[in-house]
Amino acid sequence: MFSKILIANRGEIACRIIKTAKKMGILTVAVYSDADKDALHVHMADEAVYLGASPSRESYLVIEKVIAAAKKTGAQAIHPGYGFLSENADFCRACQQENITFIGPPVAAIEAMGSKSAAKNIMAKAKVPLVPGYHGEDQNEHTLKQAADAMGYPVLLKATAGGGGKGMREVWSEDEFSAGFAAAKREAMSSFGDDTMLVEKYLTQPRHVEIQVFCDNHQNAVYLFERDCSVQRRHQKVIEEAPAFSMSEFLRSKMGETAIKSAQAIGYQGAGTVEFLLDVDGSFYFMEMNTRLQVEHPVTEMISGQDLVEWQLRVAAGEKLPKTQQELTITGHAFEARIYAEDPSNDFLPATGQLNLLKTPVESKHVRIDTGVRQGDEVSVFYDPMIAKLIVWDESREKALQRLAKALREYRIEGVTTNIEFLYNLVTTDAFKNADIDTSFIEKNRQAIFHQANEKQNDELLTKQLPTAALYLILDLENKTKALARQSNDPHSPWHITNAWRLNEPHNHSLTLAYNDIEYAVTIEQKRQASASYYLISIKGNGVTSHVVDCQGEIEGEKITVTIDGHRSQSIVAVTHNKTDNRISLYQEHGVFSFSQVLPDHGQNQDDDHHGGLTAPMNGTMISVLVTPGEHVTKDQPLMIMEAMKMEHTIKAPSDGIVNEVFFSAGDMVSGGTELLVFSKDAEDN
Ligand code: ADP
Repeated sequence: MFSKILIANRGEIACRIIKTAKKMGILTVAVYSDADKDALHVHMADEAVYLGASPSRESYLVIEKVIAAAKKTGAQAIHPGYGFLSENADFCRACQQENITFIGPPVAAIEAMGSKSAAKNIMAKAKVPLVPGYHGEDQNEHTLKQAADAMGYPVLLKATAGGGGKGMREVWSEDEFSAGFAAAKREAMSSFGDDTMLVEKYLTQPRHVEIQVFCDNHQNAVYLFERDCSVQRRHQKVIEEAPAFSMSEFLRSKMGETAIKSAQAIGYQGAGTVEFLLDVDGSFYFMEMNTRLQVEHPVTEMISGQDLVEWQLRVAAGEKLPKTQQELTITGHAFEARIYAEDPSNDFLPATGQLNLLKTPVESKHVRIDTGVRQGDEVSVFYDPMIAKLIVWDESREKALQRLAKALREYRIEGVTTNIEFLYNLVTTDAFKNADIDTSFIEKNRQAIFHQANEKQNDELLTKQLPTAALYLILDLENKTKALARQSNDPHSPWHITNAWRLNEPHNHSLTLAYNDIEYAVTIEQKRQASASYYLISIKGNGVTSHVVDCQGEIEGEKITVTIDGHRSQSIVAVTHNKTDNRISLYQEHGVFSFSQVLPDHGQNQDDDHHGGLTAPMNGTMISVLVTPGEHVTKDQPLMIMEAMKMEHTIKAPSDGIVNEVFFSAGDMVSGGTELLVFSKDAEDN
């Protein structure tokens, strides 16, 4: 066995491989780019080597740099993960030349499967069933169109060099062919630098069922059952499960045997996946073979109890497969949901940003999280926006699905738009529960998936969510005030009054919260009855003149318990700040409600002649003072930052001018309306 390996990858897959290597007592070397210098995989590895700039073509994709890193650190083998160089025959060859073991198949197998059309020709010879189509060398449009006309529409045009759903076009009729052909070629050229096309029959209700195979170099080959990856957006997988639903033992072994036959046809070694389209009538067709570990391999690990990375390392080191076919069994059911930084309502547009808050469900034998990021990390533009894979397991599909929904509800991410809500809505549709699934699942169930989200937005907003958010901010402020009072040695300190409303403030507060860009003015009035206090919260906005809610509540850490109209409920609250926004999110059993706080426009409103004082917008704490007396400042320059009700407020210069005096410093408590500094506007502005 190797004593040290290099992982030529990043993110969750690098972390995943490092975990197994550690378990096996193998030392690990990570590689990283500028964007990843502080990434989790770098911290987890025993050593790390810098490759270059953030774009992957300057770092993770540079073969010479990766090989040099392995030589420098004395790594005996390289695990390529998936993506990047994992299916690059040149890289595999370069490893061989340097006497470094490539943890993957031989060069010839990668080359054979590198082109979809060449792969199909090999499989046709090995008598593996193929979708009817044309995958010849003649690339004349007329030739491909004739083939399409002959098999009948719809057809699918595919780039032979394709991957990740790119360079593919459905063509539904003869007269659409030319435009589809041109578009697919353009996309293929820009994505792969190769616009060779094949055309095949487009199946309208297929499932994507793939078989995990493993071969060693002692002539042993097994299949570790199947995964159903039919739920896709833009031909990319979103949710995977194992085993596939409604699979008979007969079909399972037939597909498994065929997959082994496909692998053996190319002299395969290591982990591979043979992808099939499974048609409604039970016929299945070879699509392609991925000569690497798949993103979705964890579902297979969960149902088979095997560690596939360990298998890869053993096979690469020349050992025999750890189990025979007879020794492999399926236990229970597993799902994987890919958590992406993306906006499902905007055609799944990738999102970037800082993970201001990242809380995951608790891991157990039922819940596994494969991730490469921590709270505070950045989802950058440079790499795939997958944040994590959430994998769940239980005895049956029904139970596992229930766990999946629950775990998705427990996931909390702030700072970056994610697909979590979308995934939750998807897995809780009746169609998904009933396994009424094919590759157009998302399209077919669009209404149900997106409708749930819309409905939720309008419901309960005024009666529950806005009051809860406002109450949380007030109660948090009260708690903070009490804590400060306890710390203070001055018994006369006004902060010893343990009530949020003090000094000259009336016993009510106002704030503006926006939901989906619609602003609501909220006033909160504290009332007392007997010894208990309760709050009257009034909300205006979006056509509502005033909606008043009477509520009580208490907070405990990040949890708020609110009673409105005799109904007691709980939410987990996250308050996060970023450069442009203060957000408060309520996580509840049936969804997340996120509000942004609209900050008062201090400068301009209060100081028409721009001469005199700037006042605190509300009770709070001074976080930082950015100017000194006598300093000349320009319009909108930040002068001070205050924190009030968990939100940050920047006090900005109303115009160009001079700061004459500053009355507070960082850490001071400030009551609303108090003068913070003396400012005089520049003379030429008058
Ligand atoms: P890529 O390598 O880009 O991922 P694949 O050939 O693996 O492309 O196909 C991706 C997805 O496209 C499949 O999972 C399936 O949903 C769909 N697909 C591919 N070929 C066909 C076909 N002939 N008919 C219907 N759907 C197909």
